[in-house]
Amino acid sequence: MKNLKKVIGVVLILALSACSSAPQTQAPTSSQTPLPSEVREETTDVVVIGAGGAGLTAAYFIKQGGRDVVLLEKRAMTGGNTALAGFFAANSTKMQEAMGDVYTQQDQIDFLMETEGTDPEFARLFAENSGPSAEWAVDTLGIEVTRVNGREIYAVDEKGTKFPAQFVSKLTALNQQIGVDLRTECPAISLIKEDGRITGVEAEDAQGKILFHAQTVILASGGYAANQEMLQEYVPEWAGGTTSNTAATTGDGIRMAQAIGAALSNMDQLTLNPTFYDDHGTTMSVSGVRYEGGILVDPTGKRFANEMANYTEVSEAEKAIGSHAFAIMDSTSLACNPKYAVEAESIEALAEKIGVDPKTLSQTVASYQKYYDNENDEEFGRTDMRSRLDTAPFYAVPVFPGVHHTRGGVSIDLRSQVLDLKGNPIPGLYGAGEVTDNKLMGNDPVAAGITFGRLCAQSVLEDLQSQ
Ligand SMILES: Cc1cc2nc3c(=O)[nH]c(=O)nc-3n(C[C@H](O)[C@H](O)[C@H](O)COP(=O)(O)OP(=O)(O)OC[C@H]3O[C@@H](n4cnc5c(N)ncnc54)[C@H](O)[C@@H]3O)c2cc1C
Repeated sequence: MKNLKKVIGVVLILALSACSSAPQTQAPTSSQTPLPSEVREETTDVVVIGAGGAGLTAAYFIKQGGRDVVLLEKRAMTGGNTALAGFFAANSTKMQEAMGDVYTQQDQIDFLMETEGTDPEFARLFAENSGPSAEWAVDTLGIEVTRVNGREIYAVDEKGTKFPAQFVSKLTALNQQIGVDLRTECPAISLIKEDGRITGVEAEDAQGKILFHAQTVILASGGYAANQEMLQEYVPEWAGGTTSNTAATTGDGIRMAQAIGAALSNMDQLTLNPTFYDDHGTTMSVSGVRYEGGILVDPTGKRFANEMANYTEVSEAEKAIGSHAFAIMDSTSLACNPKYAVEAESIEALAEKIGVDPKTLSQTVASYQKYYDNENDEEFGRTDMRSRLDTAPFYAVPVFPGVHHTRGGVSIDLRSQVLDLKGNPIPGLYGAGEVTDNKLMGNDPVAAGITFGRLCAQSVLEDLQSQ
């Protein structure tokens, strides 16, 4: 086997325990002749693990920088959670300017710094680069922006495909055109470390194991919201629940990096979502039900929070009611697939249909209408009320809280280098996206993954140049 000797002495850390969709090697049955297990080997400049927003972007810029790149993806398709998202957050772009919405770099920094734990240097680096990243995506991929709302940039095409999903499909196609070597259904299993340096990745496809030897590895394999064991370890109070994430979001990159001595940080920090809907066993995020003017009530028909507070605050208030809640909307504020909603011509009839006391729900809506008219929510201080909830038909959707994305991960420095337990960069290992703790405390993760994917590729290219 070519080069097989080379791997003797290589530290292969096979510590990755949970990799749900990885093809498993089948034990031979008694009627089969066992085949000698064959490990294939390949050599490239850079291996990127994970083809979501961060990984597709890093791979693109590495290839454009003249280096060969293999992009490993565990699933049959690219996109990860990026493909499920709604908006790209940026500042000072020509798209925002064209739509007359002035949102400055300082506005984005101020927004990021509102969340406790955000690091000012990472916030500044991101805010300086989110605009150029959004403009690059729009110009290079031909994405047509349809709406902006402050820092949030939306693009919905004629099929209803949103900005991040358009980004994924267009960049996947472009990457293939320019020669990025994309391997789907090829999960990374472990990192190869030799003499203190990361020198490759062990992966697995339908034919068996492959060792990819490379000068650099970039982790971009996303967070761990779908890994119950990790949730139990780091945030037990939210383990056992549900998530909007793809089943592939199992923290593989975090575990692989941890196994070769990388430091992890902010692992107990999550972004929760109070508006998950159970569509026959599939968890859907229906965030619009509060953003477009709906209210949330508990099963007695009373509001329990400022619906427009941040995801995590509302989720915690909702968890405290010990049951699912209902989003209540009227025809002006219906903001989810109508098939999820119970519909009625009056609030009382709606209450009857969902098993809530009609008198209580009517009183709740009447009080809310008063707050809307006076622009003063006396109970919870909601300022953005958008709808008076007075236009039939009325709708109710049962919603519950769960894990939306994870904030912590592999520790990185401002050059996207993965750090060891002493805070020193691990040679040959970089990271971008939700697999990392980018010190933005979960804010604007689509834009952060893509922006740091771009910056990470720049650091890698510089370091390869100087080697
Ligand atoms: C429903 C939903 C809505 C959201 N809406 C928004 C929004 O509007 N705006 C916003 O900013 N954020 C939003 N987020 C969060 C955001 O989408 C993610 O945090 C972000 O896209 C993560 O990007 P990423 O590239 O790091 O990871 P991902 O996009 O998840 O990509 C990681 C990739 O790595 C692959 N992978 C995993 N393990 C391996 C392995 N061992 N080997 C090879 N490949 C592997 C995965 O299959 C996946 O393709 C939303 C999230 C969800 C779930």
